[in-house]
Amino acid sequence: MERRNGQVGMTDFDVILVGGGLANGLIATRLTARRPELKVLIVEAGARLGGNHTWSFHATDVTPAQDRWLQPMVVRAWAEQDVVFPAFRRRIATGYRSIGSDDFHRVVSTLPGISVELGRRVTAVEPDAIEFVGGQRVVARCVIDGRGLQWVSGVAFGYQKFVGLEVETRRPHGLRYPVIMDATVDQIDGYRFVYCLPFDETRMLIEDTYYSDHAALEVDLLARRVRDYAQAAGWEIASVVRDEAGVLPIMLDGGIESFWPSQAMAQARSGMRAGLFHQTTGYSLPLAAEVADALVELAPLTTASASRIIRDIGEACWSRQSFFRMLNRLLFISARPDERRDVMQRFYRLPQPLIERFYAGKPTAFDKAQILTGRPPIPVMRALQGLSPWSARPRRPMTPGRPQ
Ligand SMILES: Cc1cc2nc3c(=O)[nH]c(=O)nc-3n(C[C@H](O)[C@H](O)[C@H](O)COP(=O)(O)OP(=O)(O)OC[C@H]3O[C@@H](n4cnc5c(N)ncnc54)[C@H](O)[C@@H]3O)c2cc1C
Repeated sequence: MERRNGQVGMTDFDVILVGGGLANGLIATRLTARRPELKVLIVEAGARLGGNHTWSFHATDVTPAQDRWLQPMVVRAWAEQDVVFPAFRRRIATGYRSIGSDDFHRVVSTLPGISVELGRRVTAVEPDAIEFVGGQRVVARCVIDGRGLQWVSGVAFGYQKFVGLEVETRRPHGLRYPVIMDATVDQIDGYRFVYCLPFDETRMLIEDTYYSDHAALEVDLLARRVRDYAQAAGWEIASVVRDEAGVLPIMLDGGIESFWPSQAMAQARSGMRAGLFHQTTGYSLPLAAEVADALVELAPLTTASASRIIRDIGEACWSRQSFFRMLNRLLFISARPDERRDVMQRFYRLPQPLIERFYAGKPTAFDKAQILTGRPPIPVMRALQGLSPWSARPRRPMTPGRPQ
């Protein structure tokens, strides 16, 4: 990057992506593939792009075209997945994919024509410029702020929190497909399940996961529970290759404006910072892919045009997801902690296409009716009481103890 007196000329970059995480990495991937004439800069405070994550998604969360362009980052794809509850085990014939941050870094940092600045913290983001520590400024006609989740105030969250260990087992673990929920474990701190991704015969990620009312994450305790789970499954851990932890927002109320306050309207945002995530899982990959595809169509691509289109996607996604916020209130407020597993167990008895649409964030009216009717494990009257005047049970907006 050429610098003159701490200021690079207006034409030096067409697009600056602030934060080299998932959302901006996908935007860079699409822009360099489809708009090679644009000069794109990614600025990342960390030592590498993508941090330390495994990002997974169901094959049906994305379009077939997105599934294809994401493929170079995918570390492993499976044709099926399992869930396990006290009452049953079910194999679901829905594909599942995982992207590892190593592959993400490798792919994004070598995109043709991309400029990447690592280890550089941005202190100010403006519609046409960014500023680094020390006051140096760089300008562009499109600046997108993808600096990750902000725990906004004034809205109520539940939390999906987890600690995962990627381990090498001494002998083949025997798992062929991901177990995306093993809820036969002790129910502690809300709804608890273990999530396992078998990368190869002896390598797997095991995550102890909670749908909890509290954001505090006891990393050592959860890591110990992962080891206990592995031992009970007969998997002898030879080494821990990597660990990861997260606290993700489960929205109980609020609107898109919590993430796009009016003073931020002029500034384009992406990813979690733009409120673009599934409100019952906290997952953001499919919406990040949708935004990346939408941006390549914009001409001219400016901060204003990007902001408008991303905000439109956000509004549509928040309005579509009012059902999810209601379900979250059902799970977090109406259901007692000991009933949450029953709610999930019943959900996983529903037809596979409904489950796929649920995770893709696009349930039909009939799906919604099926989720709520039949014989729900929570007495309907109690559920309804919890759904509408839910705020009668005050919940303070909380900030996680261990922000990402
Ligand atoms: C451990 C974990 C696992 C997850 N697994 C999944 C999953 O399987 N599937 C899924 O869909 N979602 C998953 N999520 C949720 C969500 O998709 C991720 O949090 C995702 O990384 C969000 O993407 P993002 O681009 O919004 O933010 P991030 O990926 O968090 O990227 C933000 C980037 O901005 C950088 N940054 C911050 N401040 C500055 C600054 N001042 N200057 C420069 N750079 C800065 C950060 O270092 C970071 O690299 C997971 C989250 C976590 C924490």
